[in-house]
Amino acid sequence: MNSTNEQVYIFSLQDFNLVMANQQALNFLGCTAEEIRTHSVFDVFSEVTAKELNLSLQTLQNGKEMSFIHTFQTKVDLRSQITICLEIIQNEENVLCLATVRNPHLLSFENGEFTDNTTNIPNRSLFYDRLKLAISQARRDKNIRCVLFLDLDRFKNFNNSLGHKFGDVLLKLIADRLLAYIRDNDTVSRFGGDEFLILLSDIPNVAVVGKLAQRLLKLFAEPFTIDGHDYFISPSIGISLFPHDGADAEELVKNAETAMYRVKENGGNNYEFYNSKMNATVLEKLVLENNLRKATELNQFVLYFQPQINGNTKEIVGLEALIRWNHPELGIISPQEFIPLAEEIGLIEKIGNWVLQEACHQLKQLHLKGYSSLYVAVNISARQLKSEFVNTVIQILEETNLQPQFLHLEITETSAMNSINHSLSIFKALKEIGVCISIDDFGTGYSAFSYLKQLTVDTIKIDRTFIRDILLDPDQIEIVATIIKLAHTLGFKVIAEGVEEKQQLDLLTSLKCDDLQGYYISIPLPIEELFLYISEKYKLSPTI
Ligand code: C2E
Ligand code: MG
Ligand code: MG
Repeated sequence: MNSTNEQVYIFSLQDFNLVMANQQALNFLGCTAEEIRTHSVFDVFSEVTAKELNLSLQTLQNGKEMSFIHTFQTKVDLRSQITICLEIIQNEENVLCLATVRNPHLLSFENGEFTDNTTNIPNRSLFYDRLKLAISQARRDKNIRCVLFLDLDRFKNFNNSLGHKFGDVLLKLIADRLLAYIRDNDTVSRFGGDEFLILLSDIPNVAVVGKLAQRLLKLFAEPFTIDGHDYFISPSIGISLFPHDGADAEELVKNAETAMYRVKENGGNNYEFYNSKMNATVLEKLVLENNLRKATELNQFVLYFQPQINGNTKEIVGLEALIRWNHPELGIISPQEFIPLAEEIGLIEKIGNWVLQEACHQLKQLHLKGYSSLYVAVNISARQLKSEFVNTVIQILEETNLQPQFLHLEITETSAMNSINHSLSIFKALKEIGVCISIDDFGTGYSAFSYLKQLTVDTIKIDRTFIRDILLDPDQIEIVATIIKLAHTLGFKVIAEGVEEKQQLDLLTSLKCDDLQGYYISIPLPIEELFLYISEKYKLSPTI
């Protein structure tokens, strides 16, 4: 009962006394679970009569809906339009009825206390009531609520030159247009003067709010016609969000107003979020975030493969799998743009598992074609390094029927060292499966060989910044030479990434770097092109 957002009441059909209510209902009424038992159903649904209820119950077939206005009697003393859905449930000694209340939508009192006379829409008090209610609901459902503070630009000019009557008509037309635009669950109210406040409830994410504000601005692109004349007026809109921009109704309104003033300062006819971090770039990020979530479902990811060769024989020894996002409008997007975001929003495991599965599958196909000595290196994010990951690896190897030694996991130095104790146990478990571990971007982090020894790492991958400078700076040669020597002494293999020139390749080979990867050998290739590349270069050694 508590897992639904609706209010649920159970009452006895013998005496119409309430037996229980869920937390949503208790919160709404401001009662405790004990207090509710002292009430009858007619206390709660005060305008429902026994006759009405009995009638509904008689025609009840798999749930009957009844809709009426009633006054919540308890602490929230407001009128509400509700739909009640009834269902008979039976326990051993009693016949009970379950009532689910849909859409408690508070209405203004008929005496006008809650409506604005000029525009006939909710006034400031009703707005605050609804906002408070929305905040308490938001605390429970953990969703965003949003306040838009809309102030008309240069309204005073209209009022002064055309008179107050004209001004009132204009306000009414604006209110009607806003009202027609917003959804049933939202509230538009006149806050005073030329200010309107809008409360938005069902908001999946912040990007949607930005789009909505843009559409609100467009509403004002059409003229308002009064007495056959067209008038144009624009708004300035300030936006605040619960819970980000305020803990209560007053603070949210105040902050939305502050944001509105910033719009005014910049010439009006625009919108702005209170929180300056919620600016365009954040919105872009949120749009990207939305797209990224969809990308996983729409299979928009592709894997490219970049060959790695042996320095002495120049033969291809393995492939690094590198993900790309094939966006329908933006084209190929680099992992550097979306992997950090995927990590931040918790999508990396899903994406990472896909990469692992696809990389193993493609490699198996290559093995079946006869290129059976190749391995595949897959990049793993720190966030993937959880104990479940070990099982995922086992499962994928089984499914793709790939022997574990052909899977190399590339883990960056920083993520391996981040929580060394945690890494130790995971690395140990991975080693037990038989997969190989490479330390990616070596030299950019702690560069602590002794830890890597403890972590039973197989390969050190020297970061491409070292390789980039190797021809320019003799000191750099010394550093790379020392890394290679030390790594060999400790029993690690060494691979250099970012090899872009023949001289780099020759130098690294003379320094006894085992394997090499980089644009000079090949750029990362989509699978079809990789097939061509390998079929030319695998048997003969690459002609480098
Ligand atoms: P990384 O693992 O260090 O991958 C090597 C990057 O260097 C790749 O960029 C590759 O295209 C690029 N590269 C290769 N040869 C050269 C060269 O000669 N010169 C230069 N300047 N660059 C070269 P890419 O594909 O854009 O990937 C960037 C990073 O994104 C990767 O760095 C890796 O950290 C991450 N990444 C890529 N795919 C995945 C994935 O499937 N999962 C995770 N978690 N991260 C990934
Ligand atoms: Mg890598
Ligand atoms: Mg790297």
